[in-house]
Amino acid sequence: MGKASNAYDVVVIGGGPCGLAVALSLAKNGLSVAIIERGSYNQKRVGEHLPASALGVLQELGVPAALVDDKEHLHCAGVVSWWGNDNFPHSVNYFFHPFGHGVNLSRPKFDRAFADYVRRMGVVIFDHAKIQKSSQNTGSWHIDIADGKNNDHLQALFIIDASGKSASFSRMQGSRIVTFESQLAVIRYYTTCALPLSNRENHVVIESCDIGWWYFAPLSGGNCVCMLVTDPDLIDLRKHTIDMSWHSRLEKTRAIAQLVHPFTTASDISVCSARTQRLNRFHGEGWLTIGDAAMAFDPLSSHGITKGLRHGWMAGKAISHYIRGDNFAIRRFCQDLEQIFAEYLSTRAGYYATEQRWADSLFWRRRHCFDQQQH
Ligand SMILES: Cc1cc2nc3c(=O)[nH]c(=O)nc-3n(C[C@H](O)[C@H](O)[C@H](O)COP(=O)(O)OP(=O)(O)OC[C@H]3O[C@@H](n4cnc5c(N)ncnc54)[C@H](O)[C@@H]3O)c2cc1C
Repeated sequence: MGKASNAYDVVVIGGGPCGLAVALSLAKNGLSVAIIERGSYNQKRVGEHLPASALGVLQELGVPAALVDDKEHLHCAGVVSWWGNDNFPHSVNYFFHPFGHGVNLSRPKFDRAFADYVRRMGVVIFDHAKIQKSSQNTGSWHIDIADGKNNDHLQALFIIDASGKSASFSRMQGSRIVTFESQLAVIRYYTTCALPLSNRENHVVIESCDIGWWYFAPLSGGNCVCMLVTDPDLIDLRKHTIDMSWHSRLEKTRAIAQLVHPFTTASDISVCSARTQRLNRFHGEGWLTIGDAAMAFDPLSSHGITKGLRHGWMAGKAISHYIRGDNFAIRRFCQDLEQIFAEYLSTRAGYYATEQRWADSLFWRRRHCFDQQQH
């Protein structure tokens, strides 16, 4: 746990990329900030690819370039997509971007280094901490937290919910999660690559298939991650069959299987939600939701971390203005969030529309009539 009971301008719930970014942005605007993080920075976290544009957001936040250097993380040359046809892939080449490369992060190393930097900038992080009780009284929040050993009492003028897809605090304030499909990601990590460094792929590769799409990302240290994104009713996830269905489906791919073959050691398969969702309401009196807690994107976008960093940076400025008397700053920020989500939905529909080879399969039929699928 961090320091004893205390009063802060802002308390952030969740110390993922978005929570860390908003805390940093607020601290740089002269506000006192604490983060309540329920976990630690040692657990596995999903999501690794940062497109070149994300490096610009990190720079705007003032994060030192060393945090994403190529000793711990892998510089990535771009994204190759086998999507929409069998003959040639589409490529996004970061060489032509001002930063010249993207980054495939080793997580949770990145989160740990980011949290250490944010601490050095004056933010207090309470890790392994859970909120026991929160209430609002005469313009101040009162929050009781516990980490299993100690209890603390915090006060704050403002609370930010950056708790990821659970959006736990916002839901306690009455917001509701709206889901747009129920897709999930079946994930496997591989280590020990038999290929020499110079022959290894350093692109992210995406390949569509009849029940969804595959993703391959090389990681530093000769590791990689591979995942299949599909709908829960289209794959048998029972423990004794999942390995077999993974292998048989992987072997049918055009590009992904070849990339995975040189890796000799495979982790167990894990499964997590990869659905699009958003909150029906992003803010209330003295609180605001950002990052995945506000809106979670399809991993096809590879923009979840970048979005979290950008929300953090923008929200930090909006809340600083609000605390200094600009009553409309939060409302303007929420209008921006609405626009970001509308643009995301339209881009996502556009991407899925360009794949028409399995127009009869359930996965693709569902993606081709997105608008009717809001649950
Ligand atoms: C399969 C998959 C692959 C992905 N791949 C990519 C990718 O390659 N590139 C990319 O940019 N994005 C990717 N994403 C998306 C990306 O992981 C998320 O968008 C990003 O992590 C969101 O950041 P965040 O800080 O908003 O939330 P999170 O990263 O979820 O962080 C939330 C934090 O809040 C903490 N927390 C939760 N509840 C509480 C609570 N009650 N109290 C205190 N703390 C709490 C959690 O421990 C966590 O640290 C992927 C997502 C999935 C599902």
